[in-house]
Amino acid sequence: MAPFFAVAAALLLLCQITSASHQNITLPFLPRQDEHLVKRWYGVNVLHPPMILGGWGPWPLMCPGPNQKQPIRYCFKDQRSHDRLQTIVDQAVARWAHALAPASNLEIGYDHDDTYLCNDAKIRPDALVISDESTDGNENWDDCDTKSTTGYKYTTDNARGRHTLEFCHLKPGDEAATEPGAVRAMMHELGHVMGLAHEHQRPDRNDVLRFVCSNLDGYEAGVAAAEEDEEVLFDDDLEPADRINLICGDAMFARAYFNPALSFIRGTFMQTDTDDQRWRYYVSGTPFDTESIMIYSSDLGSKKPGSDNYKDWVMYQKGSKKPVWTGGNKDPAQCGPSAGDIARVKQLYPFPPGHGVQARDEGSSGRMALRVRIRDDFEMVVEPPKVVDREL
Ligand SMILES: [Zn+2]
Repeated sequence: MAPFFAVAAALLLLCQITSASHQNITLPFLPRQDEHLVKRWYGVNVLHPPMILGGWGPWPLMCPGPNQKQPIRYCFKDQRSHDRLQTIVDQAVARWAHALAPASNLEIGYDHDDTYLCNDAKIRPDALVISDESTDGNENWDDCDTKSTTGYKYTTDNARGRHTLEFCHLKPGDEAATEPGAVRAMMHELGHVMGLAHEHQRPDRNDVLRFVCSNLDGYEAGVAAAEEDEEVLFDDDLEPADRINLICGDAMFARAYFNPALSFIRGTFMQTDTDDQRWRYYVSGTPFDTESIMIYSSDLGSKKPGSDNYKDWVMYQKGSKKPVWTGGNKDPAQCGPSAGDIARVKQLYPFPPGHGVQARDEGSSGRMALRVRIRDDFEMVVEPPKVVDREL
C-alpha cells in the first residue's frame, strides 16, 4: 500500500466559527516569497487589504489565531440538492486534498455545523449556495447550465446568496452512469469557487492551443444570427468573416449571437462585456498548463462529442494536434487537479508566517497519497498529482 499522510479532520472546519453577528473576517496574507511553486494559473489575484481589485479575490481569513483558516463554507439550496449532490461534493473535495489543509490554509466544509440548508437563519450571507439545477423527468436535461462564481466577492453590503455553484451533471434516473463525470465537473466548479478561471481562456492561449470555433455545436445558427444582426452591433458593410471573428473571439458579440463561444474567449476579450469586469484583474503565470482541471476537454461543446479525430475537436494542442482533457485524463476516474492547479491554490490560500512548517515536513505538500475523511461518513485515499515540471 502506498504511504499516506492522514488528514482525518482536515476537511472539517477546525476552528469553531462563531455566529454570523460575531464573525471575524480579515483578508488573506500575501503568499510566502520563499516557497518554490510551479508557476501556472489564471484567476483572481492575491493582494494586501484593502486592495481587492475588481472586488473578487480568494476567500477571506477566518478565526485568526493558532487555528486560523481560509474556509470555503457551503450550504445546499434545498433538500433535493443535498440528497443528490452531497456525495459528489465529498468526492470532489477529497480529490482536491493535496491543495487543502494541512497543505494550505484552505478548508471546504459546511457553513454551519447544525445545518446544511441555506434557508436556515444560522447560515451566513456569504456562504456558497450549491444547487442541483436538474429536474426529474425533464427531457431537456442537456439544456441545464452548470456554472459557479469565481472566487469571493468582497462587498460592503455582504449580499446574501452572492456565491453560487449551480450544477447539472448528475442525470436524474441515470445517476450511476453519470456520477464519474459529475465528480469531475464538481472538481472543476470548486476550482472556480476557489478563484481559478478557465486555463483555456488565458490571454496567451493561442500560443499553445488551436481553437476551432466552427466545430462548436450551434455554429451555423450563430453565423446566421450575426448576419441578421438584430441588435445592430455591426456596420452594415462588415464582411461575414469579420463578423464570425467577433462572435467567436469577443465577449460582447458572442453574448449577443453565439453563447457557446463565450467559454472559449480569451480573458483580454472578455473585458468588452461591461457586465463582467472581473477579467480585467485576472492574473496568470507561465507556462500554460494543458493538464489543468480548469481546461475544457477537446471535444466539449463539439458537434461531434466523443470523436477521436482532431478535425472534429473544438480545441487541440498546436503542432502535435494532441487533445487536451479536463484534469489531464479522458477517463473521469483518472483525472484530477494538476500539480499546477494545486500550487496555485496553495498560493491563494498560503500559510500565515510561521505556520504550516510542520505540515510540509510531514510530507503533506504533494508527494504522498492522502487519506481523507469527511465528517464521519466518507473516506478515500487520494493519490498525488502527476508532477509535470515544465519550468524553463
Ligand atoms: Zn468552468
